[in-house]
Amino acid sequence: MRRTGRCLCGKVTFSAEAMPRFQACHCSSCRKWVGGPFLSVPCERAEFKGPVKRYASSEGFERGFCETCGSNLFFHPIGSGLHGIPIGLFDDQSDLPFKAEFFIDEKPENYAFSNDTSHLTAAEFRDKFRK
Ligand SMILES: [Zn+2]
Ligand SMILES: [Zn+2]
Repeated sequence: MRRTGRCLCGKVTFSAEAMPRFQACHCSSCRKWVGGPFLSVPCERAEFKGPVKRYASSEGFERGFCETCGSNLFFHPIGSGLHGIPIGLFDDQSDLPFKAEFFIDEKPENYAFSNDTSHLTAAEFRDKFRK
């Protein structure tokens, strides 16, 4: 299903083929980036318009943000068709159940989600996605 969204200031808009779920990443990079667990919707064929800045956060991966308001826009394996887009940016967040948590072994002890999700450790995540 194609969904639309925008950043906090509205200068960046996007549309993307959103998979029907969202996921949390507890890795230290994501927690630095968004200030907590990164809740994102896996998307294909994402198209962004507006003042998008890109940051090469690690080898082969980049993260995008709005140059004006600083909203986090996406996590993207370079060369892939995939973008992880923060769920809070979407205009309509209905029918996006919480399905998975990644880097569960890097999650700090001081919070935990009670949703019924699948869990992957850092090693399992890297095996699955060859990160
Ligand atoms: Zn903005
Ligand atoms: Zn992460």
